[in-house]
Amino acid sequence: MYMYMNPVFFGIIAGGSDRKVLVASMITQRVALKEAGYDICIEDGLIRDFGALIRERLGEPAERETALVTDRNVWDRYERAISASFARAELKFRAVVLNPGEENKSLTGLGGLYDAFSEMQLRRDGLVVAFGGGVIGDLAGFAAATWMRGVRYVQIPTTLLAQVDSSVGGKTAVNTNAGKNLAGVFYQPSLVLTDTALLSTLPEREFRSGMAEVIKYGAIRSKRLFDSLKKELSSEALRDCVGECCAIKGGIAERDEYDNGERMLLNFGHSFGHAIEKLGGFRRYNHGEAVAMGMALAAETGERMGLTARGSAEELRGLLSFHGLDADCPYSPAELSAHMELDKKNSGGVVRLILLTTLGNAFAMSLDPCEFSRAVGAAREGEVF
Ligand code: ADP
Ligand code: ZN
Repeated sequence: MYMYMNPVFFGIIAGGSDRKVLVASMITQRVALKEAGYDICIEDGLIRDFGALIRERLGEPAERETALVTDRNVWDRYERAISASFARAELKFRAVVLNPGEENKSLTGLGGLYDAFSEMQLRRDGLVVAFGGGVIGDLAGFAAATWMRGVRYVQIPTTLLAQVDSSVGGKTAVNTNAGKNLAGVFYQPSLVLTDTALLSTLPEREFRSGMAEVIKYGAIRSKRLFDSLKKELSSEALRDCVGECCAIKGGIAERDEYDNGERMLLNFGHSFGHAIEKLGGFRRYNHGEAVAMGMALAAETGERMGLTARGSAEELRGLLSFHGLDADCPYSPAELSAHMELDKKNSGGVVRLILLTTLGNAFAMSLDPCEFSRAVGAAREGEVF
């Protein structure tokens, strides 16, 4: 299920070691956590400087072993560019190339990574680079967190979802037989390198799914970001959007590193969304598609309860549809309620919903199951309290 590539050792390449990082417009977003802060560097075309940035931020490689964990789809497209970028910085690495897909974010997949690390003799001073979407980031991050009780790792997210969400905040996990992300740990990367140009090869459906999370950041925190998404995005605009999402999530993660408070707001649309993903057997809808429907449901629920400004749901639906996201949930309130009660975020027998006051402002609310069923039923049936 995984394979090693031959070790790639690079000698000096003309001009390599003198090359300075010359990306004037690169956005650097600092995530300042209590114990370990790190930078997220964001730019369109940053891949050319990945090697130089790793070298600059993490120090001289000396004898350091580097395992670059990726998946076949990503590696097929970017092997040459990564190899050239690392060669320019005289970084040597080994690529560990996994099959794509969520099913590899498993204990077996994790065991495969440990075997690869062991074979290449990755020591405590080694480095893991996670180069891929959320699956690779979560799996390689968990492996880095636990290998020899923790080796440094660099995240290079290649999906929109990973760039704005999973690469920020330090959550790593693998799935177990009992469910998704059940074995996991908070472990912060040393550096995140985000090249928005990599998104040009992303399948359209994956891109749309990530847009749902981008829209979410606008809906919960920034009406300006929300409005900026109402037209086609140029590459600069996309870079700026990703930067703003990282700033919002990074700020929230700083204030709530271990997910006990403010981070809840990032779950806007997710209580419904998780239920929708489950009801669709995790195949019918991907995460972003389910979250898109969930956000529309949450906005409608808030409006029916008189807590969300009128017209918000319609405006949100309009933006989702502009980005090709269907906001119409096919499941009944009863089906949704049945599955929401099982959600791991819901503690103490209450359903915690994130609602909007207006677009750009969110708050958390706990409802008992009875109140919740009424709220959702009303939202779906047009009944007014
Ligand atoms: P997510 O971030 O949505 O969890 P995954 O890691 O499951 O993403 O990746 C989704 C799919 O997109 C996988 O099949 C993966 O191989 C593929 N992929 C990831 N990044 C890129 C990219 N930049 N170009 C093309 N395909 C990609
Ligand atoms: Zn999400």
